[in-house]
Amino acid sequence: MDEECCDSGCKPCVLDPEDGDIPDLLNYISGEFLPARCEEWLNDLSPATGMRIARVPKSNVDDVNSAVAAARKALPEWSSLSHAQRADWLDKIANALEERCEEVAQLESLDTGKPISLARNVDAARSVTNFRFFAEEVRNFTAETFDMENATNHVVYKPVGVAGLITPWNLPLYLLSWKVAPALAMGNTVVAKPSEMTPMTASLLAEIIDDVGLPSGVFNLVHGHGEETGAALTSHSGVDLISFTGGTATGAKVASSAASSFKKLSLELGGKNATIVCADADMEKTVAGVVRAGFLNQGQVCLCGSRILIEESIYDDFVSRFLTAVEAMKIGDPADPETDLGALISADHLDKVSGYISLAEEEGGVILTGGITPEGIPKQFENGNWLSPTVIDGLSPNSRCATEEIFGPVVSIHAFSDEIEAIEIANATQYGLAGSVWTADLDKGKRIAQEIDTGMVWVNTWLHRDLRVPFGGVKHSGVGREGGRWSLSFYSHAVNICIHND
Ligand code: NAD
Repeated sequence: MDEECCDSGCKPCVLDPEDGDIPDLLNYISGEFLPARCEEWLNDLSPATGMRIARVPKSNVDDVNSAVAAARKALPEWSSLSHAQRADWLDKIANALEERCEEVAQLESLDTGKPISLARNVDAARSVTNFRFFAEEVRNFTAETFDMENATNHVVYKPVGVAGLITPWNLPLYLLSWKVAPALAMGNTVVAKPSEMTPMTASLLAEIIDDVGLPSGVFNLVHGHGEETGAALTSHSGVDLISFTGGTATGAKVASSAASSFKKLSLELGGKNATIVCADADMEKTVAGVVRAGFLNQGQVCLCGSRILIEESIYDDFVSRFLTAVEAMKIGDPADPETDLGALISADHLDKVSGYISLAEEEGGVILTGGITPEGIPKQFENGNWLSPTVIDGLSPNSRCATEEIFGPVVSIHAFSDEIEAIEIANATQYGLAGSVWTADLDKGKRIAQEIDTGMVWVNTWLHRDLRVPFGGVKHSGVGREGGRWSLSFYSHAVNICIHND
C-alpha cells in the first residue's frame, strides 16, 4: 500500500493499489454532472479501513457561481407551480429513493463507518420519509386569514428564493433530505453542499433527481471543502437563505458570512446533552435507553446524551448495570448486521476524541471502560478510526470534558442529590440542544424537562421523533426551528395582504 498526502486533511491516506476503479463523484449543476472547473479532486476515505473509496470535486467559487446561476434561472418556473404539483415531485423522488433504499444504506455505511443496521433503519428509511412527509405537509398547508370588521387579512407564503443547504457527515442524506424536501416544497430552488467527508449519498440523490426528471437547475449539488465551497455559498449575493447543520464554531462563521446580505438563516449546531436518571426510573428500560442515547452512531449524533446524571441513591447499582450493557455492545465490521458500533468518521476526529479522553484523566476523571482501540479488530480495519465505548467517572460537572462537545463514543457520569442539582448540572454548559429524563413520576419528568434550557427534552425515551414537531436548539446549539410547519415557515416568506371590505 502506498501513502499519499490527502487533500482532505493533514493525515496520510492509505491508497489501495487496486483502487483504480474508485468512483469520481461529480457536481450536479443545471441538470449536468460535472467535475470541478479547476479539475482538482479531494479524496473520500473509508472510516473503517482508511482506504480511498471515491474522489470528490474540489469545487471553488466558480462552481458555486454556476450552481447559483442555475438555481436562479430555474426559480420563476419552479416557484410558479402549485403546492400540489411540487408535492407530486417530492413523492416521485421519495418513490425513486425507496427503490434504491438498500443502495443508500450500503453507501452511507461505507462512507460514514456506521453499522449497516443503523444505515438501513435510520438513514435510508428516514431519507425516504422526509420527502414523503413534506409532500403531505405542503399538500395540506393552508394559509391563515384574519378577519377585521371592515377588512380581511390574507397571509400568503412566498418562496424565499435560492436556498443554500449545508450539511454535516454524521447523518448525511437524512439531514440533507430534511432540508431539500421542505425547501423545494415551498418553491425555492436549491444549491446543496454536503460534507466533503461523506459525499456519496448526496451524489446518489442527484442521480435520482435527474432520473425522475426534475426540471434542471431546481436542485444543484456542489461538492468541496467547507472553507472554500461552503463559504462561497454563504457569502454569495444570489443566495437568499442558508440552512446550516454542523458544529457551533462553523455556525458562527456561517452566521457572520450570511449576515451582511441579510440571508434568512437557520443554524442547527452542536450539543452536550444531559441524561437525567432518577431513582424511581425503571432500571432495565432506562439502562437500555441511556446506552442507546450515549452511543448511537458511535456517539456522533448531536442529540446524544453524553453527560449522564444519576441520582445518588441508585448510583452504584445503575453504573454497574450500565457498564455491563456498554461492554456487551458489538464493535467492528460496519457491514455486519449484528454490529452495534462502527468506526469514527476520520483520523482527525479520532485524535480529537482521544485528546478529550487524555484531558479527562488530567481533569481527575477515571476511565471505567473503553478509551482504547478495541481488541480483536480484524486486520482489514487496522488503518480505520476505532475507539471502544468509553465511560468516565469522577469528573467535575463543570470540567471541560463534561461541558464541551466531544462527539464520539465517550460519556461522563455524575451523581446528583435532588432535582434542583440535576437541573443545575444539566444547564451548566454553553449548549442547549436536547436532553432526556428517566423517571416513573411523569409530573416530575415534565417539571424537570421544563427547567432544562434546551430546544427538546424526552421523558423515558430518546430520539423519539415526530416530524411535525419543532426541532432546534437554544444557546450555542442554534438559531431557529425546523420540522413540520416550522420548516415550511422557514423556507418561505409570510406576506400579509389586507383587503378592505367596503
Ligand atoms: P462542520 O461544522 O465541520 O461541517 C458542517 C458542514 O459545514 C460541512 O459540509 C462543511 O464542509 C461545511 N463548512 C465547514 N466550514 C465552513 C465554512 N466556513 N462556511 C460554510 N460551510 C462550512 O461539522 P461536522 O464536523 O461536519 O459535523 C459535526 C457537528 O455537527 C457536530 O458539532 C454536531 O453536533 C453538529 N450537528 C448538529 C445537528 C443539529 O441538528 N443540531 C445535527 C447533526 C450534526
